[in-house]
Amino acid sequence: MKKRNIKLIFSLLLILLSCTASKPNSDSEKESDDLIKIELYWSNIYYKKAEQAQGWKYIVIHHSAGNNGNAEIFHNWHTEKGYGGLAYHFVIGNGNGSNDGEVETGFRWKEQISGTHVTVNSWYHNIFGIGICLVGDFNKTNPTSEQLNSLITLITNLSKQYNIPLENVIGHNDVPFGDPDWSDGKINATFSTKTQTTSCPGKNLKLTEIRKSVSEKLVKK
Ligand SMILES: [Zn+2]
Repeated sequence: MKKRNIKLIFSLLLILLSCTASKPNSDSEKESDDLIKIELYWSNIYYKKAEQAQGWKYIVIHHSAGNNGNAEIFHNWHTEKGYGGLAYHFVIGNGNGSNDGEVETGFRWKEQISGTHVTVNSWYHNIFGIGICLVGDFNKTNPTSEQLNSLITLITNLSKQYNIPLENVIGHNDVPFGDPDWSDGKINATFSTKTQTTSCPGKNLKLTEIRKSVSEKLVKK
């Protein structure tokens, strides 16, 4: 297992264990066997090797909440925070840290693995959501036109390639919490009405308009 992801797997483990907290078990050997099984299971889900974890169902849009940055800067920051490296799949620059409208592809996309861009309470959207971050604080400023052009092109291509419906192109603050249900051997989620408390991707990122532009582009394709 790659070192940068060990921390993530363990935090996932801790969450899972706290969710399924059982009575103390005196049989420590069995306990460690179970832990290995759970770790392997999560590792297969995280790396999207498990059949039920394959594919992409959502596109989740973020802003960086700061005026400058790029994939490398966020990668270092997310590593320090224990997110296992760059949390997003793509970063779109604003000219401060990378070129205006430049799309940087992160290791998670290159390796086709899960993101860590939303809370673990929304694990389903980390597994199935493609995370795109635009550099900027869109509660204070607007995305640049180059960023929007790149975002619209990227969403158009991804939604076409992976059959992602436009209603599944959502902002970070639209992502619901979900309870896992593994009962039939598949990954199912029961979503709650509770969503993230974040204001990401900012009030000036107009997702309705972005979806409209994507749908127009899809018609032309
Ligand atoms: Zn976000």
